[in-house]
Parts: sequence; C-alpha cells; structure tokens
Amino acid sequence: MPYDYDDQNIFAKILRGEIPNDTVLETEHSLAFNDIAPQAPVHVLVIPKGPYVCYDHFASTASDAEIVDFNRSVADVCRMTGVAPGAAGAGYRAITNCGEDGVQEVPHFHLHILGGRMLGRMLA
Ligand code: IMP
Repeated sequence: MPYDYDDQNIFAKILRGEIPNDTVLETEHSLAFNDIAPQAPVHVLVIPKGPYVCYDHFASTASDAEIVDFNRSVADVCRMTGVAPGAAGAGYRAITNCGEDGVQEVPHFHLHILGGRMLGRMLA
C-alpha cells in the first residue's frame, strides 16, 4: 500500500489540536506554521488538512479545491513572511521530502518554505 497514512504522526496531532503549533496562516483546507527547528530566518511548513502522506499522494488524489487552497496558501505565506521576490530582492526555497530516499521525517505532506537569508546551493 504506497499511501498508508499514519494518523498518529505529529502533524495529524497538530491538526487535531492535540499539540500546539506556531500558526502563520490557516485556511479551509490548509495550515501553515513555523518549523520547530528552523534552518533559516523564515522556515514555514505548509500542510494540507487532509490525510496525504506526500506530494504525489496529495497531487494525485486531493480535490481541486484543496490543491488550489494549498497553492494559494503557499503564495500567501511567501508574501506574509516577506520572502516573495520584490524590488528589494528576497527569494526563497520550497522543498518537500518524500519517503525513505527523500528522508521524510513526518509522514504528512508538507512544503518547507525557507528564506530570509542567502541560502546555500543545494541539489541533494
Ligand atoms: P521532513 O524531514 O521534511 O519530514 O521535515 C519535518 C520537519 O518538521 C522538520 O523540519 C522538523 O523540524 C519539523 N517539525 C517536527 N515536529 C514539529 C512540530 O511539532 N512543530 C513544527 N515543526 C515540527
């Protein structure tokens, strides 16, 4: 079963309100919150509220409404945190890890938004 969602993962617990989070944005279908161990001055995680294990699971099975909501939330977080490119520069990196080879720690799809400083070159 490629997409066996574990509802005891930490982000599922955050979504159920069982553990706290530092919310940046909440919408009907998505939640964005600050990473507990930030790797950059801006390090926000954006997650769908639905039970999706990783990106391809979300992209292949979520509703259009969820997908639009998620992507608009990413754009809103980039704007709200000041990393969306503007006249002064800025910029960010958006990363998602999937599965064992992708070294995914939390098995609930999430996009990392990193910025606020010049990031190192990274491909693998
Ligand atoms: P992954 O390796 O892409 O799965 O990243 C999981 C991320 O979740 C890591 O950057 C962790 O620091 C972060 N994280 C784990 N637990 C929490 C939490 O309770 N709140 C916010 N971020 C968390």
